[in-house]
Amino acid sequence: MRKTQVGKLKPRFSFILNSHSDVRVSRCPMCEKLTHARKFAFLIHVDAWGPMVQGKTAKFCSACELIVVHQDELEAELVHSFEKLDPKLIGNSYLVIGTVETKTWKRGVKGEPGTLDEVLQQTADFDRVLTLQVDPGGWRPAASKPFRSD
Ligand SMILES: [Zn+2]
Repeated sequence: MRKTQVGKLKPRFSFILNSHSDVRVSRCPMCEKLTHARKFAFLIHVDAWGPMVQGKTAKFCSACELIVVHQDELEAELVHSFEKLDPKLIGNSYLVIGTVETKTWKRGVKGEPGTLDEVLQQTADFDRVLTLQVDPGGWRPAASKPFRSD
């Protein structure tokens, strides 16, 4: 059964939350071309808070439309954000849902965050969520259910 779509835009991008801090994904795990850094605005659902938008530079393969986010870096950014928003929520479970159009996110950074509905109008859920499987023979993507940190 397909999960409920959150964002109003058509789902796009494949997504990997990379929990292996020693694997830096300089090459795409799907096509082995070099990845490059690209800034995205992610819609993240944080337990006891709800949806929030977090800007984060990620590794991107434009051929595969694959985004790889390093979990340790993302969690450091979330800690930074929640030190201001609500420190007692640091460490709560979260789910990365999709990407928000960067112009919408930049308005929020400038102090015009808009309503949640306006943000969701500019949000695209991930088309596919993959996990990075690391084994002694190398590492490869594997299809999986949407990632949960708990
Ligand atoms: Zn690729």
